[in-house]
Amino acid sequence: MSGAKKPAAAIIAKPAFWGAESRFLGLGRPARFVLLTQTLLVMNNIRFTNAQAEQAFLHDLKTEVHQHFAGRPIAHADWRFWAKGGCWFALSYGACALLLLGHLTAGPFWAVYLVFNLAGLLIGFSWGHDASHSTAFRRHWANQWLHFVSFLTVGIDPLLWGLRHLRSHHIYANVEGSDIDIDRNPFLRLSPAHPWRPYHRYQAWYAPLVYLLTLAHSVFWGDWVYLLHPDYEWMRQGVGRGQLWLRFFGFKVGHFALMLGLPLWLTDFSVGWVLFTYFSTGALCALTFIIMLVGTHFFLEADYPTSEHDRPATVGPCTNCAPVATGTPGKVGRGSSAAGLTATRPITCSRTCATRTTARSTR
Ligand SMILES: [Zn+2]
Repeated sequence: MSGAKKPAAAIIAKPAFWGAESRFLGLGRPARFVLLTQTLLVMNNIRFTNAQAEQAFLHDLKTEVHQHFAGRPIAHADWRFWAKGGCWFALSYGACALLLLGHLTAGPFWAVYLVFNLAGLLIGFSWGHDASHSTAFRRHWANQWLHFVSFLTVGIDPLLWGLRHLRSHHIYANVEGSDIDIDRNPFLRLSPAHPWRPYHRYQAWYAPLVYLLTLAHSVFWGDWVYLLHPDYEWMRQGVGRGQLWLRFFGFKVGHFALMLGLPLWLTDFSVGWVLFTYFSTGALCALTFIIMLVGTHFFLEADYPTSEHDRPATVGPCTNCAPVATGTPGKVGRGSSAAGLTATRPITCSRTCATRTTARSTR
């Protein structure tokens, strides 16, 4: 789901730790991961300068990270990474080959296509995700190619996905208005900061139906928004428009050629049946995708810090974190230029502030 502005994230252009980010994230432990992303907030203009606990945490974490890497070469993917992704790749493209032989009847065609699609999704989960962090190969271009190939069955543009994954989600996990993964949408309330509607009391029941649509939404709508909408200029910063568009359209052509063009060309099934198979198996992939994501985000308690940029001007300064940081309260406009957004504005503490939004969650 898309649509929310990302003013706070716009100030992340060229952060100092950019090159080291993937190595940090390569630690791979979920709990550490959440803590780390919050620390990156401190490192990246959204500062909690008055929160002693944050400063102490940052110090401890930096010390621990330095100790962890002291004297160690930064390694890239080992054989386990290649074996895992290789299994999914063999399963997915083995199923694809079976489909294209043209000997299957309609039912088995649908079932084998589902295997092709689901295993393809898992290629994206394993090789694709890690390649987006540039952890598979030493060379950036090799990671980019692996990411491209790994997302071919999924259909979500890998370059744009990688940009928002690294520049938004990992750095601003759960930060309202900055973590693109919890953007507001009309159907599901993903953060306590989102407005509550009466029908949200039923979202636990209808959420799976919404999840079924997420992949198609991303492929046919979300990607275009991220490519074209000026609100996401901050996300595309540093990538030339020519490269962005060339890779975007090259990828989309590759995806549709693989998923629709080849089956239509090499089998006798009707356009309607191939399209039905594409969308119905894609919906099951989307559900699987969300369930796998949710499964890795179970916490007994979750913080949803609100970026100071999005905090209403009427909200007073933090009362728990005196002395309060100075600065002009208010919002950075939706259409603000990147240059304007890079002007650092002092930020009050969100984690210990009385106005923070905190929720206990078993999701
Ligand atoms: Zn990641």
